[in-house]
Amino acid sequence: MAAAERGLLESGVRQCAVSGRLASAEEILRVHSNEYLSRLELALARGQGFLDGDTFFSGGSHKAVWGAAGAVIAAVDASLDTEIHQGVVIVRPPGHHATIDRAMGFCMLNNVAIAAAHARSRGLKRLAIVDWDVHHGNGTQDIFISDPSVLFVSLHQWPIYPGTGRADDVGERDGLGRTVNLPLPANGNGAVYAAAFERIVLPILDEFEPELLLISAGFDAHERDPLSGMRLKSTDYAWMASSLRRVADKHAESRIVLALEGGYDLRAIEQSFANSARGLVTPAEAELISEFRGVKLDYEAEQALRSIEKIQRTHWSSLR
Ligand SMILES: [Zn+2]
Repeated sequence: MAAAERGLLESGVRQCAVSGRLASAEEILRVHSNEYLSRLELALARGQGFLDGDTFFSGGSHKAVWGAAGAVIAAVDASLDTEIHQGVVIVRPPGHHATIDRAMGFCMLNNVAIAAAHARSRGLKRLAIVDWDVHHGNGTQDIFISDPSVLFVSLHQWPIYPGTGRADDVGERDGLGRTVNLPLPANGNGAVYAAAFERIVLPILDEFEPELLLISAGFDAHERDPLSGMRLKSTDYAWMASSLRRVADKHAESRIVLALEGGYDLRAIEQSFANSARGLVTPAEAELISEFRGVKLDYEAEQALRSIEKIQRTHWSSLR
């Protein structure tokens, strides 16, 4: 967290701090089950231990976990109620692996999903969550799988933890077509992400017309990250954030909130967070995507994008 804060300070972005708070049970129960919430509270009251193989908790976890969810809610409220429509939230633990009824992969409460449900409770009808963490946001997908009001878009390395997020998982029942998975082969660089944005992510967002955008911003697709095999550079996060800001400008009254998820190299987090914050407030940074136009992708990446396009064409006329 300190690295992300340092990055934000060095980004040169003019800031206005919003007070965070703890999420309430009512807010949490919009996305997690009653049974899970009771189980989680009981476990955390024990002091320290593991909720699954890699989800450790300690004495400070309750405050951190409830505070993380509450902070993303507070940022959503600020984007709706004040003239500051772009928010960044530096929190840990992350949330996107937490499912309706299970803690997973360092995540206990699904911060971004709770914030999306909060925005909906405030009357918004269409919300988009873009998850660029290198791991699939299985928890967020699980929570909104049959919900047509939340578009969930995840770009992730494939196949790695948690093993979900296939291209043909496209949502269920009323939510059919509202889950957009982009599983990408290892070694994906800026050119691959730029092609994914221009050919799939941005047209779909534009067609969906979200009233608020939330970004599950892990920085573990960075080339320095020890847990992944992707090759994004810190500057790639500027045009990614900025492209999403453009969508927010067009459809969502510029409302966009970015929340930290994973990322395990401190220097990468610091620099990438700074670039994301700058991109979020500078729509013109989106132009940097043009550097990648005309770059030929390697065979595997091109095939992955083509098969995702083919699947998504059924649901989005803008891709036809
Ligand atoms: Zn991750």
